[in-house]
Amino acid sequence: MGTIVSLNGVLTAPEDARISVFDRGFLYGDSVYEVIRTYEGVPFELDAHLARLESSAHRIGMRLPVPLATFAAEVAQTHAASGNPDSYVRIVSTRGSGTLGLDPRLAEDPVRMVIAMPLNPPGPEAYRDGVAIALVSVRRNLRDAIDPAAKTGNYLNSVMALAEAKTRGAYEAVMLDHRDYVTEGASSNVFCVMGETILTPPLDVGILEGITRSVVFKVCRQAGLRVLELPLTAQALEAADEVFITSSIREIVPVVKVDDSKVGAGVPGPVYARIRQLFDAYVAEYSAARK
Ligand code: PMP
Repeated sequence: MGTIVSLNGVLTAPEDARISVFDRGFLYGDSVYEVIRTYEGVPFELDAHLARLESSAHRIGMRLPVPLATFAAEVAQTHAASGNPDSYVRIVSTRGSGTLGLDPRLAEDPVRMVIAMPLNPPGPEAYRDGVAIALVSVRRNLRDAIDPAAKTGNYLNSVMALAEAKTRGAYEAVMLDHRDYVTEGASSNVFCVMGETILTPPLDVGILEGITRSVVFKVCRQAGLRVLELPLTAQALEAADEVFITSSIREIVPVVKVDDSKVGAGVPGPVYARIRQLFDAYVAEYSAARK
């Protein structure tokens, strides 16, 4: 059990995994990444994560150094070498290093790595009791500044948002856009429930197309639940019957407080419980089919 790094395809102990101080991922956040979780050793929704890695690279005009199949093989190999029953897996691909300067054409020697670490999901109390989110003052990047649809190494927007949320005692930050529409969490997508309908901000608000978000869509629609992508205001979130956030590592976490206002009855609601069941069944089927 432990942490192991595949650096440009070579399995390496974490203390020996070194990259250049001239690497643009380090200097400018000029890199793309993915975070994947395994279930029973199977990387969940790997193809979707790899497709998003490629699309993130495309959005910043970067070419991935190896085919997606090589990343897939390295994910499997790194997880296996970690000895963890299940891993938190991070893929990072940087534009590389070279002569100092912003011009991407200066980049040489792209670096790719896969890190497999012991999985450390939220404790059972987060799912049982729910968590608090803070609507922070930090705004989500404009789509035509750094497009939130690209999962790049430039995460300061989320770092600052989460720092503010933590200062306010919240578990996750939720950012508004410049027009006051709800976007997403620092590292999660946000949903709310009004009556019978499940609502979440549309992609064109400027958010990451979460893999967990897509799985929630799929399982809800298969079960006949109504999910709509609609612009949401902070007031809508505060007035919702239920709120939850989604991400690969945390799956689906119920939210019982938005800033100082209680969500619904202040405990995880029945729609969350239903979606949780559907999600767990989907995960079990996914991993059983690929073991
Ligand atoms: N939004 C942001 C900004 C994120 O960093 C993440 C985590 N990758 C998510 C949403 C959730 O995405 P996923 O379900 O693919 O983990």
